[in-house]
Amino acid sequence: MQKFLSSLLDLIYRKKCYICSASKYSLKMCPKCYEELVFSNFFAAKVIHGVNVYSCGVYEKTLQKLIRGLKYHRQKELAYYLAKFMFEYWKELGNTGDFQVVPVPLHANRIKKRKYNHMELTAEEFCKFSGYSLNSELITRVKDTKPQYKLSRRERLDNLSQAFSIDISKDIGKPVLILDDICTTGATFEEMIKTLQAAGIKNNIVCLAASSPIL
Ligand SMILES: [Zn+2]
Repeated sequence: MQKFLSSLLDLIYRKKCYICSASKYSLKMCPKCYEELVFSNFFAAKVIHGVNVYSCGVYEKTLQKLIRGLKYHRQKELAYYLAKFMFEYWKELGNTGDFQVVPVPLHANRIKKRKYNHMELTAEEFCKFSGYSLNSELITRVKDTKPQYKLSRRERLDNLSQAFSIDISKDIGKPVLILDDICTTGATFEEMIKTLQAAGIKNNIVCLAASSPIL
């Protein structure tokens, strides 16, 4: 009877894959959908103020659905899968060293609305995979910027100017790995790099975005 009950509960509460709705694996993202995530090439997509910017995949299909679910639809458990994908890409780059991982921060108003920073959740999971230290306190977003997607590169840079503030007392002296979900023009990374460099952090900064749009 107990066995019957527990398998009944299993059936009722079985997790469905957010991407394809399959419940066979009772996972938020099934292995079949995870396999559909495709890496971009392993070269820096951009170099901004001497810093390499990498993009793990193209913002389309399964990767796009994964990011949108995590970011806009409260699917917090998807952070694990996004972090896994980013970490597998990161390993291929062969970077050695022990990094402090800095997720792109959201402004307090945005967090209030969304309840969480999806990139902070992703960075947390990324640190479990890599053994790196999470540092979400080094840089905060002090300007409540407009959404960027409709803006030109110039407008994005103006929009983001002075958007970040750094607390240098939170620096733990390790190289910095900045994580974001989408890198389009690189304006967000650029402003964060400027903020770090202006505060005297010049040694080894790397930027890693989960995706870039098709250009
Ligand atoms: Zn699936």
